[in-house]
Amino acid sequence: MKAVAQPQAALAATRRCWCGASGFVPFGPEYGECRTCGTLVYLKDTPPEQLLVRDDETDFYGKKYWLERQQAAFGFPDIHARSRNDLPERNLHWLRALLKYQPPPAKVLEVGCAHGSFVALMRQAGYQAEGLELSPWVVAFGQETFGIPVHVGPVESLDMPAASLDAIVLMDVLEHLPDPSATMRRCLQLLKPAGLLLVQTPCFREEVSYAALVESKDPFLGMLIPEEHIYLFSQRSVTELFRRIGAGHIAFEPAIFAQYDMFLAVSREPLEARASEKVESALMAAPGGRIALALLDLRESTRQQIESLTRGLEEARVEAAQLRENHASAMQQIQTLTGWVHDARADAAAALESMHSQAAAHASEVAAFNGMHESTVKQIETLTGWVHEARAEASAAKESISSQAATHAAEVATFKDMHADAVKQIAALTGLLQEAREKGSALQNTMEEQTKAHAAQMAEARASYAALSDGMEKQKSADAKQIAELNGLHTSAVQQIETLTGWVHEAREANATLQSAMEEQKNAQAREVAALQGLLARPMLKFALGLSNIPERVRGRLRSGTADEPR
Ligand SMILES: [Zn+2]
Repeated sequence: MKAVAQPQAALAATRRCWCGASGFVPFGPEYGECRTCGTLVYLKDTPPEQLLVRDDETDFYGKKYWLERQQAAFGFPDIHARSRNDLPERNLHWLRALLKYQPPPAKVLEVGCAHGSFVALMRQAGYQAEGLELSPWVVAFGQETFGIPVHVGPVESLDMPAASLDAIVLMDVLEHLPDPSATMRRCLQLLKPAGLLLVQTPCFREEVSYAALVESKDPFLGMLIPEEHIYLFSQRSVTELFRRIGAGHIAFEPAIFAQYDMFLAVSREPLEARASEKVESALMAAPGGRIALALLDLRESTRQQIESLTRGLEEARVEAAQLRENHASAMQQIQTLTGWVHDARADAAAALESMHSQAAAHASEVAAFNGMHESTVKQIETLTGWVHEARAEASAAKESISSQAATHAAEVATFKDMHADAVKQIAALTGLLQEAREKGSALQNTMEEQTKAHAAQMAEARASYAALSDGMEKQKSADAKQIAELNGLHTSAVQQIETLTGWVHEAREANATLQSAMEEQKNAQAREVAALQGLLARPMLKFALGLSNIPERVRGRLRSGTADEPR
């Protein structure tokens, strides 16, 4: 109001709480918390006459308070709107509490009734209710609007008998009072001993700091209204206030604006809470009460609907939060899966590339194998040709060997024949030799006897011997030639046999045997021939040839020196 701005410390020094204490803990720029009772106190002094409205145009709670300040400072609807809106809202809430502790019929005063709608509702419900306001303008407004009796206050100056009221209601009034203790004492004076005070006022929570309120944007901060709200009680301090003035029975009821208000029933005597049946029957007793009951029923059902909807909303919020969480989780899963899909695609692309390169490598391998195959086929063809050639050669060699074997067999047969002939000749010659030896022996004997007789004939013989010696020499060389020729033939035959022996393995041993036999025979034959030749060479034998008694057959053979057939 008109108070001079002073530093808080200075304010606190001069200021006293309703409880009489003067120590305050700073609470925001203009309030302090009473260290004694816990009430939040507007630290500037407020003159008691603030509640007086002598000039409705200029005083604090005059006409402008209702038509301008409430709208401009706090954004409330104007008094015309409030007079309509409060009825189905806070007025019904208050009525329910009043009915509980003081049902009609009862005489009730509303201190600070504003436009008067609650007074009107109380009257509708069956109370003998009246109002009180500071501004004559607003008093007239209530009277005209609702046709209710309204007094001009303050209550201290109200002309009313003491102990004449059953109840006094003070809604949003206590915090405005410069001396709440005095005003409440005055109310109790007007009340009957068991009379009821029904009070709605802001609720200061002592445990919460100003900084915490600011930080949480607590709606209670809206109750810190300098000049207007002088005392903001806590449950503890309001209890102390009423205890001090002898009203020690207090029941805290649910406040309609529970986020920053409290609502209490107070009495000097124990409070009696009526059952709802009693309240209903009290209301049913009068037509107006029935209307009020209908309004209360409607409000109750609305309240229940609102509660149900609020619960539904809270559940929906929880559900929405869950859904948001699920959505976030799902999004995360989708992101993960998308990542996997990308990875899988990349893997597939890499695999495809690898397959392509493998296919290319495979194709080149196949080409290489095809080349190798062609080369192998050619090699096989060549080898097959070689095999055919080898077979033909083998066949030819076989034929050649067969023919050679046949030739050899024929030669062997020939040689066998020759051998047989030779054996026969040898046998014949052996016979002849024996014969010749015998005859030779006989001849030797004869010759020895005749040696002496024929000595004379020696000279003649020597001459003949010389001539014969010549002839023998000639004959000797001719014989040597023949022997050489035979030896040559023999050597050639041996070579042929050796060659044949190489070709035919089986024949080789037989042939070798035969060959050796033949060699032996030949040698024997040669020895025989040589022996014969040796005999021929003898001069005495030559001489014997001249003898007439030697058969011609033998003589011829002796001359030739050969082994002709004996037969
Ligand atoms: Zn105090």
